Amino acid sequence: MTQPQVIVVGAGAAGLMAAGQAAAQGASTLLLEKMNRPARKLRITGKGRCNLTNVAALDDFIAHFGPNGRFLRQAFSRFFSAELVAFLQELGVRTVTECGGRVFPASGQAVEVADALLRWVREQGVTLRTGAPVARLLVEEGRMVGVQVSGGEVHRSEAVIVATGGASYPATGSTGDGYRLAEAVGHTIVPIRPVLVPLETAGDVAPRLQGLSLRHVTVRVEVNGQKQAEAFGEMLFTHFGVSGPIILTLSRQVVDTLRAGRRVSLSIDLKPALDERKLDTRLLRDLDAHGKQQFRTLLQGLLPRKLIPVCVEQVGIPPHKAAHQITAQERERLRTWLKDFRLEVTGHRSFSEAIITAGGVDTREVDPRTMASRLVQGLYFAGEVLDVDGDTGGYNLQAAFSTGWLAGRSAARALAA
Ligand SMILES: Cc1cc2nc3c(=O)[nH]c(=O)nc-3n(C[C@H](O)[C@H](O)[C@H](O)COP(=O)(O)OP(=O)(O)OC[C@H]3O[C@@H](n4cnc5c(N)ncnc54)[C@H](O)[C@@H]3O)c2cc1C
Repeated sequence: MTQPQVIVVGAGAAGLMAAGQAAAQGASTLLLEKMNRPARKLRITGKGRCNLTNVAALDDFIAHFGPNGRFLRQAFSRFFSAELVAFLQELGVRTVTECGGRVFPASGQAVEVADALLRWVREQGVTLRTGAPVARLLVEEGRMVGVQVSGGEVHRSEAVIVATGGASYPATGSTGDGYRLAEAVGHTIVPIRPVLVPLETAGDVAPRLQGLSLRHVTVRVEVNGQKQAEAFGEMLFTHFGVSGPIILTLSRQVVDTLRAGRRVSLSIDLKPALDERKLDTRLLRDLDAHGKQQFRTLLQGLLPRKLIPVCVEQVGIPPHKAAHQITAQERERLRTWLKDFRLEVTGHRSFSEAIITAGGVDTREVDPRTMASRLVQGLYFAGEVLDVDGDTGGYNLQAAFSTGWLAGRSAARALAA
């Protein structure tokens, strides 16, 4: 290939979209991917099913990114969930919307999405080079002039889009290179943290409950006894602590709080549908109806089997005590425990288990209308390398596709201008 007009670094969700869009605008485009196979992360998204996006309305969608969501408004206004669904439909990928507004390919196969995008970039005339890790961005007098691949090979171009992803699940190729590349040419990197990540808890309770999944529970995050956040849904116990959808969602706040050196505990409400009074009525009724039953047996109607020994131990009621002998005080202890089963958070898992990386290229140094660097002419950013991170539910992939779309078009149009 003669000198490309646009170089895209990283062939993930954002890079494929950016490269295809740049080429579709008529720019000769070179896509450099470090791994031997492109889009490795995309292929494992959504447990292999790829939760592409979400049908939430724009304001609600943006709220799922926290304060930095504002930065995405322009990109979403140009290319949002409906446009993504229509685009994929044109590539032959039909989609379905499931509970919570989550959109998946109808085939339930993430690989279908990755393969369709790859076919499309090739059809647009993009040159894809795999096994080509970019080691340096080449800048002269404040302008992009090209990139250098590890090993020394130089590709010259006046427009470069960095779409190298975050630092999570590094085995997929996303090892944080983009942060180093951007920092070396003067960009500020907001400190990176693993988020949407499982949490580690104190003591032996979690390991004893390993494999137990609790549905329809409310988990509250408490910092120095003050509620900081809460979520309702499903969680899971693991050998090190807790995971599952609501824990991952809450982890965004927990990670930052732990890093600030503050103590975090989780309070699990095992009976969120019943307030204290209703729960007390229910307990009284059970104790009354099964007066001769042992406390341990009575709990079978209230809790999953695995949780019973933990409950018995923490509530301090002898397991063989007959229901009719349980005192009002003991009943109150049980009621309190059912509404406030506590776990002390001691830490979080590392980048290798985090769905997303928070932090990254400071969005104040990037023009939200074009994804262009405000510091280096001809440099653009797209995807997770930017300091934006959203909840689970399809928000992160949409952000990668939307910023990729905008960066690809803007880079090609700037050349034409
Ligand atoms: C297990 C898992 C499941 C997920 N499921 C979902 C989901 O269902 N829905 C959702 O919305 N989000 C999901 N996410 C998050 C989502 O996958 C990411 O936010 C998204 O892939 C980011 O896209 P990206 O293109 O910015 O980065 P990536 O997809 O990480 O792609 C970056 C690419 O750049 C390449 N690269 C890195 N450095 C270099 C270099 N120096 N030179 C050349 N190439 C380089 C990498 O090899 C990689 O191919 C999931 C994440 C994980 C880990």
